[in-house]
Amino acid sequence: MKTDEDCIFCKIVAEEIPCFKLYEDEDTLSFMDINPANEGHALVISKEHWRNVHVIPDELISAVSVTAKKIASALETRFSPDGINLVQCNGEGAAQSVQHFHMHVLPRKSGDELKLNWGLAAGDMDRIQEQAAKIASTLQSTG
Ligand code: AMP
Ligand code: ZN
Repeated sequence: MKTDEDCIFCKIVAEEIPCFKLYEDEDTLSFMDINPANEGHALVISKEHWRNVHVIPDELISAVSVTAKKIASALETRFSPDGINLVQCNGEGAAQSVQHFHMHVLPRKSGDELKLNWGLAAGDMDRIQEQAAKIASTLQSTG
């Protein structure tokens, strides 16, 4: 499997560093963003290291999209947000900060005025863990 020893997401895939895991299958992994733009902010990554949309193989971007759909459904069921954005960033100008393909699953509140460059601020880890447990249990009960 294609991997990069300096990549933080590859380290999460290899379980060298922890994450608040929501779901995994053969090709994808989903976990909570530790600098959430909003409550329930989750990420979906390909397990293989591919930098961006320009290089990731079609079957893997498809697998990431299917997993993002699952996570969005669980967020919708559990938290009934006012909306959900799927956001995927490529390159410095698009504010890509981790060079390993990923999709944000981003619950929205009406009027939150979230901008595409939302900035990174550490979340409350207890709260994130609580939300992860709720989402993971919803995923298990809804398949
Ligand atoms: P992007 O700016 O689109 O590259 O998004 C990368 C995201 O990864 C940011 O929202 C970060 O908060 C998130 N992130 C970075 N390191 C970690 C980590 N160790 N665990 C969870 N999320 C992370
Ligand atoms: Zn990587």
